[in-house]
Amino acid sequence: MSYTMERRGISDRALAIADKVEQFVRDTVAGYERDPRLGAHGPSEDLSHELKALARQAGLMTPHILEDGGHLTQRETAVVLIRSGLSPLGPLAVHTCAPDEGNMYLLGKVASPELQAQFLPRMIAGEIRSAFFMTEPAEDGGAGSDPSMMLTTCKPDGNHWVINGRKTYITGADGAGMGIIMAKSEQGACMFLVDLPDPAVRIERIMDTIDNSMPGGHAVVSIENLRLPADQMLGEAGEGFKYAQVRLSPARLSHCMRWLGACIRAHEIAVDYTNRRHAFGKPLIDHEGVGFMLAENAMDLKQAELMIYWCADVLDTGALGTVESSMAKVAVSEALMRVADRSVQCMGGQGVTGDTIVEQVFREIRAFRIYDGPTEVHKWSLAKKIKRDWKESQDM
Ligand SMILES: Cc1cc2nc3c(=O)[nH]c(=O)nc-3n(C[C@H](O)[C@H](O)[C@H](O)COP(=O)(O)OP(=O)(O)OC[C@H]3O[C@@H](n4cnc5c(N)ncnc54)[C@H](O)[C@@H]3O)c2cc1C
Repeated sequence: MSYTMERRGISDRALAIADKVEQFVRDTVAGYERDPRLGAHGPSEDLSHELKALARQAGLMTPHILEDGGHLTQRETAVVLIRSGLSPLGPLAVHTCAPDEGNMYLLGKVASPELQAQFLPRMIAGEIRSAFFMTEPAEDGGAGSDPSMMLTTCKPDGNHWVINGRKTYITGADGAGMGIIMAKSEQGACMFLVDLPDPAVRIERIMDTIDNSMPGGHAVVSIENLRLPADQMLGEAGEGFKYAQVRLSPARLSHCMRWLGACIRAHEIAVDYTNRRHAFGKPLIDHEGVGFMLAENAMDLKQAELMIYWCADVLDTGALGTVESSMAKVAVSEALMRVADRSVQCMGGQGVTGDTIVEQVFREIRAFRIYDGPTEVHKWSLAKKIKRDWKESQDM
């Protein structure tokens, strides 16, 4: 292999799972990458079910959640999720994909035993997909980079809550079996768990986006008088942003893990191409301009991998890791963009065709620099912290 993933400091149980996941993704899932059922709005339900059935057969469904319901540590999760990402279809097949992975994590941490029993077993078994409803349309002036701009409301009515609003970019809303909806009440932000489909949660349209690895695509959704029993609220009223933080850092980091896997594979494909393809009397890789691009890829990949393990270790101490996951999200997504771009460039025309996944990985990473917080928003919040720390140091 042209890139060696870390094995040092990783438990035997995680490596055993990761090795099986890698073999399954490379040997089985990669064979579906040019399947015509992978459409502009993501893999069809049919393709999704077929891949999941194969993962189940291989004993690899939701491999980061253990049989006793426990969760691998974040460091262990990293080694498994990186391998699942070696194909853009891998996370879907073995169910380590977004937004399900983050949603399962949140429910495992915050939901009551009753709500866990209602949703988690079906989610972990990969029987239903889920969606996370936070962002709102710019044309309404709703929540985007700034979640405090949230317009969707929830109002108590007897022992029910009534929710109204519009959401956008909701990944996988179309075809989801459950959703986590954020809305604001007089006490502050709230989160609700809802069985889907529900006639009060209407898909207005599926957007045409640059990426297409996620089933259901990304939807604009209207929520009109959605009436939910009070016990469908996650935790306490007014605590919604606190729970979003619980989900945010591990979910951000899991995107880094999966997309690192995809970029490792894109780099491998570029290395293979540049060794086989000749120009001006020698293999492309022997031209310094090409060799340097591949060397830079290897360094960016390794830095991204080490940063993921560093952030995972912080989360494994029980800390929220908001600062560290912001740093990791920016550093990893920007490094992976460079890797994907160089991989395309090394492959000439072939790099921008659908003949390999390199072109898809390039498109997917572009979107990753925006979701779960655009690069600039993370840098802005890091800069605010740097200023705060400086001020505190002056007061001492
Ligand atoms: C593919 C995809 C999938 C998504 N899936 C989901 C989902 O499942 N559920 C969900 O709720 N949301 C989802 N989102 C939404 C995503 O989280 C938002 O796009 C993101 O939070 C940015 O919000 P916005 O698009 O409204 O950008 P805006 O808020 O309009 O910001 C536009 C740009 O302004 C700049 N900017 C903003 N604030 C600052 C600042 N403080 N300093 C400097 N620059 C700044 C940034 O460059 C930013 O990209 C998804 C988005 C994409 C692209």
